[in-house]
Parts: sequence; structure tokens; C-alpha cells
Amino acid sequence: MALLAARMGRTRISASAVAAQRTRELRAAGLDIVELAQGEPDFNTPDHVMDAAYRAMRAGQTHYTPVDGTPELKAAIVEKFRRENGLVCRAENISAGAGGKQVLHNALLATLDAGDEVLIPAPSWVAYADMTHYAEGTPVWVPAQRANGFKLQPAELDAAITPRSKWLMLNSPSNPTGAVYTADELRALAAVLERHPQVWIIADDMYEHILFDGRRFATLAVVAPQLAARTLTVNGVSKTYAMTGWRLGYAAGPVELIRAMARLQAQSSLNPSSVSQAAAVAALNGPQEIVVERCTELEARRDAILPRLAAIPGLACTAPHGAFYFYVSCADWLGKHTPQGRVLANDADVTAYLLDEGVALPNGAGYGLSPYFRISFATSLANLHEACTRIEAAAGKLA
Ligand code: PLP
Repeated sequence: MALLAARMGRTRISASAVAAQRTRELRAAGLDIVELAQGEPDFNTPDHVMDAAYRAMRAGQTHYTPVDGTPELKAAIVEKFRRENGLVCRAENISAGAGGKQVLHNALLATLDAGDEVLIPAPSWVAYADMTHYAEGTPVWVPAQRANGFKLQPAELDAAITPRSKWLMLNSPSNPTGAVYTADELRALAAVLERHPQVWIIADDMYEHILFDGRRFATLAVVAPQLAARTLTVNGVSKTYAMTGWRLGYAAGPVELIRAMARLQAQSSLNPSSVSQAAAVAALNGPQEIVVERCTELEARRDAILPRLAAIPGLACTAPHGAFYFYVSCADWLGKHTPQGRVLANDADVTAYLLDEGVALPNGAGYGLSPYFRISFATSLANLHEACTRIEAAAGKLA
């Protein structure tokens, strides 16, 4: 009998995690690698949040808590949704877990039966398809066009829906493209979804506060309240407050779903860390100026780096409207030869070549649209400029 379960054949490591791991190995071997793979801000967690965590520990908040969040945390999340989004909900609609990732995982595992379909606009964050596989669902990539800013159009959504469609994953601002849906664009998608009552929607708002050029954030359950009864609105403190390591994400949704998610979590990690919950309360209830300042800093990095990327022969990229990624087309590099004589046949070959040239990046295949690679600009300008210099040099060596 095989040691590993069949489910392990459906469980992959993401392209960004592979690139980050490879970087660690190459660095340990003494190589100088610029890593632009990880999806996390390089800022520190705000001081007042760390102070609150320390005070919570000293006050004895080091024990088990209710499975899907303390009453204080749920109250802070309810208030956040009211204040920032105009989304009205109660504590019973809230689930908190060890990161948005666990919350998403709970939602899919609690609802998917074998063969149920999850509609994933391509490109999208790698984890949606992998989590769907793990939960025995079927990921259905729905290609979004570059000409439409990588945003799913109502007709494209309509054509992809089948009687087995259970979930639509809607992520704005998007990882990996930075696409941002306007309220009107969400309403147009909602008009389609209204005709298909079997489809539930995950609004993944993880990058809500990283929006550029004065854009405004919109979320489905608010702009289309008629869909709120089948929408799970997912968010977290990772990207907004530079708290990726604290592992704290949350969601608002219908009570039946929220309870099922808690039942699952009770059989895995139980409650998210008590200290992280106290920290999240401080982040959500505390001063928010730092969030705006950091967004301005990310926008400045985007503006500094975009012209350099755009000038590299064979690469094409537009300005992301939110999040902190460039999704770069490398179509014109395919078919070319590296100095070692290898032919670049796909975007995995391209990122392998760039790694040889000292830049670690995830390739587009995992995000559902090739040939592309993703650059995270949530790192220092010095790193970003060095990466551009290396990519430029790599372009110059292709024949
Ligand atoms: N959603 C998107 C689109 C993401 O990119 C990520 C993290 O990269 C998450 C959700 C999950 O974030 P976390 O688990 O840190 O809350």
C-alpha cells in the first residue's frame, strides 16, 4: 500500500513558493539572487500593533479561544466591514482563521463535492486552482483578455457557467495582474450571476487597500446586495498591515457556511493564534494613516520601475491599478536561444533562464495564463532596479 494518499497527487507547491525556495537554496550555495517572487510587503508590522500583541501576551491571552475568532476580533471585523465597505453583518457572519488562505480553504472544503466546478478567471492567484483540486472540485479557468485589462466580461462569465458551477472566484485588486473592478463592472457580472442561483461567489478583497491613481474600491456583496446571501467576502491583515507572518485572515458570509467552516477548522488548527487575534484587533481598530502612506510608497515604486520594464526588448507590461505585481508578457522571448544554447520554449524556461541570470520570479503557467512572469514590487527600489538591470542584460544575451 502506498504511503501517500491520492489527495497528495492533487496537492502542489505554488510557483511563487518554488521560486522562493530555490532562491534560499541558491543563496545558501553562495549565489547572489534578487528575489521578486514572494507576495508580501517588505514593510514592518506597525509598532502599535506589536505593542498590542505584547500587552495581550502579558495579560494572559495565550490560551485557546473560540474556534473562529474572539468576540473582540469579530466585533472589530464587523466594524471594519461597516466603516470601510458599508457591508452590514453580525458576529455570527464572521469567520477568522490562520490567514485568508485557511479561510478560503475552509470555504471550498466545506462546500465542494467531487466534480463541482470552481470558475477561476485566468490569470488568478495560483492557490485557487490548487485548493479546488485538493477539495476534489474541478477548477475551470475562464480566460480574461489583456485587451480588457484582464477583467472578466459578463458574456465570458455567462458562457463558462454550467449546472455544476459552485463558486466564482473574484479577486480585486488582482494577484497577479493588479486589475481592479469598478462598481459598475461588478454590477454587470452580478446581472449574470443573478440568473444562475447555483453559483456562489468568493470576493477575495485581500488587496483592498493597495489601489493606485485614486481608484476606489468596490466589493460585490455591497454593490449587488441581492447576491449577499451567496457571497463570501474574504479579507485579512496580511497585505494591508504588513502582517503576513501573523497568519490572520477573515471572511463575512451566510451563517450556514460560516458555521460549517468553523466545524472544519475545529478539526484542523482550531483557533487562529490568540496573540495574532489581539494584534489584528489593534490593526483594525487603530489609526489607518500608515495604510495610505504605504500605498503611496508602493505606487511610487510602480511608477519608477514600469518605464524600465517597458524598455526591455521583448517584454510587455501595463501599469497595474492595484496590488503590488507586474504581470509581464514574455511572448517575444519564446523561440530565442540563451547563451548556453537552450531554446526558451515557454515561460517556465524564461524564469529558469532569469534565475541563472540572478533574478527569481514565478512564471505565468501557475496563474493560468502564459507566457508571462510575475514581478512583485513590494520590495526595495534598490532591489527592483538591480533586477531590471539583470533582466535587461539577460534580454541582451538572447539570440
Ligand atoms: N488572496 C490573494 C489573492 C492572495 O494573493 C493571498 C496571498 O498571497 C491571499 C488571499 C492569502 O493571504 P493570507 O493567507 O496571508 O491572508
